[in-house]
This record gives sequence, C-alpha cells and structure tokens, in this order.
Amino acid sequence: AQVFSNVPLAPPDAILNLSTLYKADESTQKVDLGVGAYRDNEGKPWVLPVVRKAEEIIFQNRPEHEYLPIGGLASFTSSAATLLLGKDNVAFKENRVVSFQTISGTGANYLGARFLAKFKPQDTLVLLSQPTWANHQNIFNTAGFTTQNYRYYDPSTLGLDLQGMLQSLGDAPNGSIVVLHACAHNPTGVDPTQDQWQQIADVMQAKGHFPFFDCAYQGFASGDLDRDAFAIRYFVQRGFECSVAQSFAKNLGLYGERVGCYHVITKTEQSANHVRSQVARTSRAIISNPPLYGARVASTVLNTPELMAEWRDNLKFMAGRIITMRDELRQRLVQLGTPGNWDHIVNQIGMFSFTGLSPTQVEAIKTKHHIYMTSNGRISMAGLSTHNIDHVARAIDDVVR
Ligand code: PLP
Repeated sequence: AQVFSNVPLAPPDAILNLSTLYKADESTQKVDLGVGAYRDNEGKPWVLPVVRKAEEIIFQNRPEHEYLPIGGLASFTSSAATLLLGKDNVAFKENRVVSFQTISGTGANYLGARFLAKFKPQDTLVLLSQPTWANHQNIFNTAGFTTQNYRYYDPSTLGLDLQGMLQSLGDAPNGSIVVLHACAHNPTGVDPTQDQWQQIADVMQAKGHFPFFDCAYQGFASGDLDRDAFAIRYFVQRGFECSVAQSFAKNLGLYGERVGCYHVITKTEQSANHVRSQVARTSRAIISNPPLYGARVASTVLNTPELMAEWRDNLKFMAGRIITMRDELRQRLVQLGTPGNWDHIVNQIGMFSFTGLSPTQVEAIKTKHHIYMTSNGRISMAGLSTHNIDHVARAIDDVVR
C-alpha cells in the first residue's frame, strides 16, 4: 500500500493561479491588479530609500550571525510595540505588553493562534469578517479553532454593514476571539470610522470577546502611522486585553525578509510574565528563534530619528500614489459616464479596492482586455499607474455596460 494514496489534491491558490495566467499572457496591454505588493508608477517593485540607508549602516558595522533569543531582536520588538501603541501608552509603564518577533504577519497570526488554542476554552470560536484575508481561516483552523464569519461588507452599499456586524458579534457565544483588521481591510478596503469602532468595542466589551488585531498596513493606509493605529490604541485605552499580529512587509517593503511581531497586552504585569513564558514555549516549537536580517533593518530605521523621519516621508509617498490612483480612476469612470456610483473607490483605503465587478465581468475584463484581478472584483491599487489607468477605466466601462 502507498503511504500517501489517501491524500487528495488541494484546491489551487487563487492568487498564485492569477499570476501564472498573467505571466503567460502575451498582450502588451496586460495589467496585473492581483498583486499584493506595492509597485511604482513603472510597475516595478520599490525598495524604500530608507531601507537602503539602514542596510548601509548595518554592513558598515560588519555584523555577526549568531542566533537571536527566542523572543527576537529586543531593540526591534520594543520599538515595534511603541510604534503600535504610542510611546506614552500606560500599558508600557505598567509592564503589561508582551512582544515576540515572528515570521512576518502570517507567523504572528499563527503564533497567536497556537498560543490562544492552548489557553482558551476548547470550544472557543474564532470570528472572521465576511470576507477576510484568505489565509485567516487556514491559520486558525490549522491551530485547531473552529471559525465562523461575522457580517462586515455590504455589497449593496459597497461599504461597511455596521448593523450586521454588531448583530453577528452580539449573537456569537460570549468570550469568542474576534479577528479585526486594524486598518486597510483586506480585501474590501472598507474600514470602520472612529465612531463605528466605538460601537464595535461596546458590543465586544458586553460580550467579553477577545480582540485579535491583524495589523498588516500601519502607515501604508493613510500615510500616517499614528492615524492607522487608532483602533488598537482605542481598545487598549478602554482596558481590553488583546493580541496584535504586526507585519512590516508592506510599510517597510520588506516582504520577503519576513519581519513581524506578535504582541499581547494583558491586564496585569503578572499575567504578562506568564503569557511571555508560554508564548516563548510555543514559538520555540515552531521556529526556535526568528531570522535576523530584516529585524536588523527595521530596528535601525525605528531607532534612528533621522531614518524614522525619512520613513514617514517614504510612507506618505507610497500612500499618496495609491490615493492619487483612486482619485484618477474614479474621475475617469465618472467622465465616461460608466453606469453606477464610483465613490467607493475613493472612500475605500489601503492597498485594495472592492470594485463591485461581478465574477462574469471579472472574466470578461480578463479575456477581452487582459486585465487580471481576483474573481471577487478586488483590485490592487498598486497595480495602477499613469500608463495603464486609461485602459483600465475604459475596460471597466466596457464590461459594466
Ligand atoms: N494580514 C493581512 C490582512 C494581509 O493582507 C497580509 C498580507 O497580505 C498579512 C496578514 C500577512 O502578510 P505577511 O505574512 O507577508 O506579513
């Protein structure tokens, strides 16, 4: 008998599939709007100038390559926590913040899921927004959790279904884990307003739910690191204990270097010490200790005031290009008289926009116009440029009519 004869073929990954089709397309007009990474106006990857400078500083010091401690590079994890919570956060003064370096945001989600699976009651549900980042369900299921969706996106308004969300959270069993996108919701680009966050926190507090923030786009969404951290700081200020999975893939452009952190904010210093000891055991089983290179780059930026200032400029530049592309796309659709209202393109935020195109329209825009996006109609704003935006607007106009 064969050992693996009972292993079925897994379904293909939708995004990877899309990029294979895009690469095989020989049209000179082709546009990749699937990509989840920043591109410059020439469609090229962009190494942040501040990252180049940090790399030079690091190499001048001729670093060694010893193992990091289990928790990672302390100068990185502590400044990463400060970036999230703000330096004057009372949680720091009370020594109740636990921070571990992880394999980017994915590893942070997974470390958190594995840690919580050990210490939350066995039947605890994990609630995910409908829709959410495709990997959330995979991660929390792999850690042993049952996942359920909460209502989030309203296709009729192309915006937030606040009442639906509040109702789903209210109907879920007390003490559920709720995964919240800290900013720049993927895939919809729809974020709650500050007032809506308050209503969400009210329900979660009443239900004793545990907030698990996924923060993959701080600074990349609005261009302002503090503004994008609003929701996390607000929940902490209200006294919630919570988790944060933090990624530096997008905001420092360190995608492949896998730079991230998992943070837990507890109520007391004693809980923090206990949690720290247990997260360490969990992380030891998964990676033993995290990789050095990207953490060194991030730490150099975060701990050098001039580089920090330059990073803020780099972030404004990336967020600014994306916001400009949103304006330009909407303007063109309005000028073309494309049926429908296109305000959602500018109201949504971050890397992605939910266009509202149907799966049939997505298929048509691919075959007729060589424009590639996921079947749910999500486009990566970073794939748009001054060179292709006319073509994209005319193609959307064509398939919508
Ligand atoms: N969470 C969300 C919502 C994301 O969109 C992403 C990346 O696309 C991640 C987490 C994790 O990315 P990474 O593991 O590259 O940091």
